[in-house]
Amino acid sequence: MNLKLNNAQLLGRDGLWDVSIADDRIVDIAPHLSVVADRVIDAGGQLLIPGLVDAHMHLDKALLFDRCVAVTGDFNEAMHVTLQAKHSFTVADIQTRARRALKQAIAFGTTAMRSHVEVDPVIQVTGLEALLPLRDEYAWGLTLQLAVFAQEGITNQAGTVDLLQQAMAMGADVVGSAPYVDPDPEQNIRIIFDIAQEFDCDVDFHLDYLDDDSPMLLPFVVSETVRRGWQGRVCVGHMTKLAGLPPAELAAIAPTIQEADLSILALPASDVYIMARKDTHNVRRGVAPIHTLAQLGVNTAFAVNNVQNLFTPFGDGDVLKIATLVAQLLQLGTPAAHQLCLEMATTRAARAIGIHGYGIAPGGIADLVLLNATSVSEAIAAAPPGRMVIKRGQIVAQSKLEQQWFAETAVH
Ligand SMILES: [Zn+2]
Repeated sequence: MNLKLNNAQLLGRDGLWDVSIADDRIVDIAPHLSVVADRVIDAGGQLLIPGLVDAHMHLDKALLFDRCVAVTGDFNEAMHVTLQAKHSFTVADIQTRARRALKQAIAFGTTAMRSHVEVDPVIQVTGLEALLPLRDEYAWGLTLQLAVFAQEGITNQAGTVDLLQQAMAMGADVVGSAPYVDPDPEQNIRIIFDIAQEFDCDVDFHLDYLDDDSPMLLPFVVSETVRRGWQGRVCVGHMTKLAGLPPAELAAIAPTIQEADLSILALPASDVYIMARKDTHNVRRGVAPIHTLAQLGVNTAFAVNNVQNLFTPFGDGDVLKIATLVAQLLQLGTPAAHQLCLEMATTRAARAIGIHGYGIAPGGIADLVLLNATSVSEAIAAAPPGRMVIKRGQIVAQSKLEQQWFAETAVH
């Protein structure tokens, strides 16, 4: 099927553009295209962006409010209560919650997602058993990567290495861990790289989270990445400790991150909620300075992470709303900064999870979202609910804001 979008705004280009699509690919982009298409959509000056990319999500522990209620609302409670809840996770339960989250994500315009999947002696590989079939089931709307990860540690959890290897053999795409919960974080990191080399897969760490006094593990991950020849294949999420670095130290570390071609994700909906709990006033934000790092040449992005559980009691899985949050937290007000936010929600996030050549260009895959916004700043300001979602050249979802007015004076 051929599809043509007329009169669309595009990121980084002035004026209005026509975009023609044949099958799953973008064919041409020009101010006026005269090609015949099966379906023509007049964008009417609205903003057409690449499909949103959620580079870091947890489908297996999404939407847990029916069984996890906060008493203290702190990180230790989130870890403890979620671990208890995991004892009762079943394939059917995980699939029910993941399907809700996936459908909602597709409606928002997420066309690619990396979901972490917990593997430990309690849940074993149940999460992966639940999510592997959904990778195919939802391929019509979203490219799903599954990153198995050891949330509870590795060196302190006998059998976890075997479980991670089993999960990779079952068909997981990526391997990772949360070294900050492991008593031997450097060994934890070495083990993950060993498994990555064994299965020739990319690596994803939950890294340098929290605001305790433990040293940053980022330099160790950078050196292991280079030592193993894994440049461009490692993504790290959270990195809240980077928020505490003075500008000179951040500028000094940036070239090493760039050399290892490491991607850094802020997960602000979780980070701002969990960080700095001991601050009694003027509470720090604890969001990695991804805008500054981008200026220093590092590939940075942001992602949803958790939706409605004790780690993140907020959010609905919309990457664009996270873009609004990022712009507020990092105090980004210019159109150029808002364009950077949209790049971090799309092309930069795609690069972070190893999807190359993503974006609106001839020959590229036609993963697109037409937003009900007429500028990058309006898109960031309002995260408009009006969206048309195109996955591989097919319109897969459309959302509109419906309002009804009942006061007579409102009609005029
Ligand atoms: Zn996470």
